[in-house]
Amino acid sequence: MGFRNIGALLALSVLLGACTDNTPPSAANGGKPESPTLENVNSTHIANAAATPEVWLSYGGTYDEQRFSRLEQISPDNVKTLGVAWTYDLQTSRGVEATPIVVGGVMYVTGAWSIVYALDAKSGEELWVYDPQVSGEDAAKGCCDVINRGVAVHEGKVIVGVFDGRLEALDAKTGKVVWSTLTVDKSMPYTITGAPRVVKDKVLIGNGGAELGVRGYISAYDVNTGALAWRFYTAPNPAKKPDGAASDAIFAQTANATWGDRGKWTTEGGGGTVWDSIIYDTVNDSVIFGVGNASPWNAKTRDPEGNGDNLFLSSIVAVDADTGAYKWHFQTTPRDQFDFTATQSLILTDLPVGPKEALRRVVMQAPKNGFYYVLDAKTGAFISGKPYIDLMTWASGLDAQGRPIEHPDARKWDKGFLNIPGPMGAHNWHPMAYSPQTGLAYIPAQQVPQLLKSGTQDQTHKKRWNVDGDFSAGVPLTYPKGTLDFIRKDFKGSLLAWDPVKQEARWRVTHPGPGNGGVMATASNLVFQGTLGGELVAYNATNGDKLWAKQVNSGVVAPPSTYAIDGEQYIAIATGWGGGWALNYGVGWPKAITPDVGHVIVFKLGGQGHVPDMPTNIVDMRPKGQAFGTEEDHKRGLARYADNCMVCHGPLVVSSGVLPDLRWSYQSADKDGWDDIVMNGLLTGNGMVSFREYLSEDDSEAIRAYVLNQAWLAVQNGDARPLGDQ
Ligand code: CA
Repeated sequence: MGFRNIGALLALSVLLGACTDNTPPSAANGGKPESPTLENVNSTHIANAAATPEVWLSYGGTYDEQRFSRLEQISPDNVKTLGVAWTYDLQTSRGVEATPIVVGGVMYVTGAWSIVYALDAKSGEELWVYDPQVSGEDAAKGCCDVINRGVAVHEGKVIVGVFDGRLEALDAKTGKVVWSTLTVDKSMPYTITGAPRVVKDKVLIGNGGAELGVRGYISAYDVNTGALAWRFYTAPNPAKKPDGAASDAIFAQTANATWGDRGKWTTEGGGGTVWDSIIYDTVNDSVIFGVGNASPWNAKTRDPEGNGDNLFLSSIVAVDADTGAYKWHFQTTPRDQFDFTATQSLILTDLPVGPKEALRRVVMQAPKNGFYYVLDAKTGAFISGKPYIDLMTWASGLDAQGRPIEHPDARKWDKGFLNIPGPMGAHNWHPMAYSPQTGLAYIPAQQVPQLLKSGTQDQTHKKRWNVDGDFSAGVPLTYPKGTLDFIRKDFKGSLLAWDPVKQEARWRVTHPGPGNGGVMATASNLVFQGTLGGELVAYNATNGDKLWAKQVNSGVVAPPSTYAIDGEQYIAIATGWGGGWALNYGVGWPKAITPDVGHVIVFKLGGQGHVPDMPTNIVDMRPKGQAFGTEEDHKRGLARYADNCMVCHGPLVVSSGVLPDLRWSYQSADKDGWDDIVMNGLLTGNGMVSFREYLSEDDSEAIRAYVLNQAWLAVQNGDARPLGDQ
């Protein structure tokens, strides 16, 4: 749409508020664009999506990805009457991160395992379900659960990025596969979790896998055939030779020289995966995408020769939408060593930051590293950047070019550095929103410290977690009563309203833990966010007053979307606690874990429906066998657990509940049962593959000894019950 003027936008949004009932366009509203149908929805409709708020056409709502809807039927005055219109059971206990897409009266949403659901957006009736049958072996390539952030739509097709690297177009009416393209080398640990974006006649998709050792890139495919149109790599190939890709010229010109000639990047891919944010700047005809962290994380082993910036890790990159040719980049964390992805939400808008406060088209991001950036959308020039969190250890600020001023010890991993933000970031994938009315960005921010330390041995285990850091650093073998509560207090979450012009916080709501849901703002001055505590909440966008909340009986990490049918506005949220935080950091989550059963829950004013009661997970918190092993065994078990198990089953063997808490498992008490799973891959179908390639029999038994020891430590500390206690 390219609104150039906030005043005009406000006037238009007021008018649009009066015609959310799909009335035909009239001269009075300046000729509202036609609402697209399933058959004709295309890039032009997405470019005009701000003016057709009755549909939600792409991941971030519009190409600007502000997650700001001009619907305003649901308002601060009546939001208290918001009730359930319908619910749909996604039948999963794994993470759900999708934004519901709505067009032609149909909602397209994904659950875990890249399963796509087509639902009647008014009634919730199931129209079709497509299960791409992702294998357990491929599931094990994921860093952060078998999640998916949603689909794209184009002219009768629904396009999904499948976890195992397929990009597939489905018939929007039937769910049948129209075309399927493999976007990755299946011999490498690539995954897709992000939502594809359609720009003109191309569909854009990246991938994940930098923790396990891959080289990142973004690809554009013909939306009608699935044929590759262009590809842009974000790290060089080991020989620094041309790939025959759109990125060749800029690598030859500047990027290759920012990498040394040897080091683990040549075998571990270098990283830089494009796993989430991709936006389209209609004004400058640029595709702008966020680039992820290094592989491996530790720059000392990744690139031991040089001191270069390692382009394009942790960068925001703009390319020509048609050819993929390089336009500009801005690197948020040069020579990333901290898992500081710049894949977080990218948002385009016009801000009064030009000469004499003239409007200037900008792109904004609150990446993991804790700084809020405002860049010129045409050139990538740094305009401003400030920490959006209160506490930061790795850097003291940004210089005039926007380059971080690092703490002198931040990279001294031999002695360890307590990093804030830690690898979970000050803001992770949970999308932020921006309201052009309040001029505020709404960030699901968090504080999650982590001690970063070099590995004590060669931890290269090909195609598994492989970052050259010691995850057992700072993890004690035993700990006193009250430790878990102490840790939990240190891990914080908030919804932060940020003024990007003044670069300062306007208001903040504190949550009991980090990793809360994505955000949506509306023209009626509301901001919606789900929480890990299982509520969907509506706030006053100006001051953060909590105006409405509804318990949805499951933790929420996904962002809401909104749409209107027959004159009624709906708010949709996909629930289901899971994802990276849930797997990695159960220890940081408050004790009252909500049941993790995914649903789509849709609200409307006066809705009289009911959120289904979820089965309560009553975990039998008793060790199922006696502790065994020496202190040496437990130390070895901790080291091996940290290398192989911790990122899914949690530090201190405390699980969030998404995956089994090994302390209370019968298999932990039974060597044969344990070996069947850990060494022989009995649960491969769930993603728990055999670790025989990485663990000796002694290692495996040492881990089991450590796990049971942790179980009995919990009993000793009053965090669990002893055997035989009812
Ligand atoms: Ca990462």
